[in-house]
Amino acid sequence: MANDHDVAFPTLSDKDLTALAARGHPREVHAGELLFVEGDRNLSFFVVQDGAVEILEHSRGTPQSVVVHRPGQFTGDVDVLSGRAILVTGRVAEDGHVLQLSTEELRRAVDELPELGETIIKAFLMRRNLLLGSGFEGVKIIGSRFSPASHRLREFASRNAIPIRWIDLDTDEEAEALLRQFNIPASAIPIVLGRDGEWVPNATIEGLASCAGLSAGLEEDQVYDLVVVGAGPAGLAASVYAASEGLEVLTTESHAPGGQAGASSRIENYLGFPAGISGADLTKNALLQAQKFGARITVPAPVRSLGIDGGDRVVTLADGTRVRARCVLVASGVEYRRLEVPRLRDFEGAGVYYAATEMEAKQCKNEEVVLVGGGNSAGQAIVSLAKYASRVHVVLRGDLGKSMSRYLVDRVQGLENVTIYRDSVVSGLEGNGHLSAVHVRNGKGEERTFETNSLYSFIGCDPNTRWLDGCVDLDRKGFVLTGTSLSPEVSETDRWRGAGRTPFLLETSLPGVFAAGDVRSGSAKRVSSAVGEGAMAVSFVHAHIARPV
Ligand SMILES: Cc1cc2nc3c(=O)[nH]c(=O)nc-3n(C[C@H](O)[C@H](O)[C@H](O)COP(=O)(O)OP(=O)(O)OC[C@H]3O[C@@H](n4cnc5c(N)ncnc54)[C@H](O)[C@@H]3O)c2cc1C
Repeated sequence: MANDHDVAFPTLSDKDLTALAARGHPREVHAGELLFVEGDRNLSFFVVQDGAVEILEHSRGTPQSVVVHRPGQFTGDVDVLSGRAILVTGRVAEDGHVLQLSTEELRRAVDELPELGETIIKAFLMRRNLLLGSGFEGVKIIGSRFSPASHRLREFASRNAIPIRWIDLDTDEEAEALLRQFNIPASAIPIVLGRDGEWVPNATIEGLASCAGLSAGLEEDQVYDLVVVGAGPAGLAASVYAASEGLEVLTTESHAPGGQAGASSRIENYLGFPAGISGADLTKNALLQAQKFGARITVPAPVRSLGIDGGDRVVTLADGTRVRARCVLVASGVEYRRLEVPRLRDFEGAGVYYAATEMEAKQCKNEEVVLVGGGNSAGQAIVSLAKYASRVHVVLRGDLGKSMSRYLVDRVQGLENVTIYRDSVVSGLEGNGHLSAVHVRNGKGEERTFETNSLYSFIGCDPNTRWLDGCVDLDRKGFVLTGTSLSPEVSETDRWRGAGRTPFLLETSLPGVFAAGDVRSGSAKRVSSAVGEGAMAVSFVHAHIARPV
């Protein structure tokens, strides 16, 4: 069986090289020549024909050799397809010849030559894993575990697979030295230190995204066939199907691809994965799949509003960028509900968390934590936290099993370091800058205090539809109405009479605007149904484009 190194750095057969030669451009190269440099975007893909190309990384100050590509081997990793800034430099080590393919030419080759495509995609994914496991440091974030702004940055980096080195001001001696070296005041945390020594004080998510080479400009004059709002399972599925069927797709995501599923430690009921799959893996693969077909995915890009201009739908991003499209898919999912307890906002990101990914779970190693909620997401979080925490205290309004799947109930009940408090609610929070205690009250009015630094909240969700602001019809709870759920009067409006049809199954009250996944009224609130609806929406997009309204 091929080991990780062989998967990451295969040598292509003569047949593959001939097929690529027919699609690329030969180029003579000389030792010392730079084919690409860290930070470059939209770079080409190079296959070594003769000579050698060395890959170097500089994240730890001095250049480190990652690999030397010999004849039959090729450069690149996932960023060739994503268009993000590349993390490494490619330098010609020995005179020779390479074959150069642009991203578009590579996409076509991967599409037309599926076996070769599989080799290249697997190599790209494995190279990123190996690079991250090799001590690659990426951008540095100096912050405090107890600061909400630092937590937001780390969470954003982790969910977007941005390689970072976390330097904790409270525990890491290097933090002081770096602050002195760059003459930065400690009050400026969180601080992002970029590749070239540039630093961003009081860094925001946008600052980090720009430092890590994530943000890319959008052309306002382009009219996309489909703009997908939200890159959770529904949005990613729609992006894959639409792009693979030749539509021009732009997917805008406010936070991180994967949505809620990306925050799930293990999804066990997704078809085809009998051993379960982590949300992070599912997301990583789906994202690359969409990019492989040419979908453009932009993060962080929260959509602020939706409108109509002539025959186009217009989506306006929070930074004011206006994007035009023939169709829009609302796939903005849901967001967590907040506990109604005094001082909650003081501790969000500073002790109160809404996810329990590996990052949060490791943070509570050997500590006692409190978790509130009794649904499936709470169940997964309990299992994940119990691996690290010394004890997980679970606070429930009702009983375990009321809204949690049986397999999770069994698993939770089998954990020795989990204690369940039924008929109970969180009644108060305490702390100074960071959470230090959680008060819990039961139905009899008895109160108990837990001294803890971490409270995890999983008490349900509300739809992310504020940005739609009256543009499409919503149900009483704010979920988007589609198809037959819409009032019959909708079809009587001039717009729909002019269209000569009634709304399609996943179409909203506005023609050409569709909704899929958790945000849709009556949807099943599952990964598989979100994926199914995202895929199905694309067939309605084709139908709308064929006969626009
Ligand atoms: C911890 C956890 C575990 C779960 N485990 C399972 C499981 O095991 N099995 C299962 O079937 N289901 C599970 N679920 C439920 C499942 O994840 C959801 O049903 C699914 O993710 C819904 O997908 P979606 O694409 O409709 O919405 P979401 O996943 O909510 O994605 C919506 C996306 O839209 C983005 N967005 C929101 N507003 C905007 C805006 N204005 N502009 C741009 N982007 C925006 C959000 O940032 C988000 O990324 C779990 C959920 C959680 C929270």
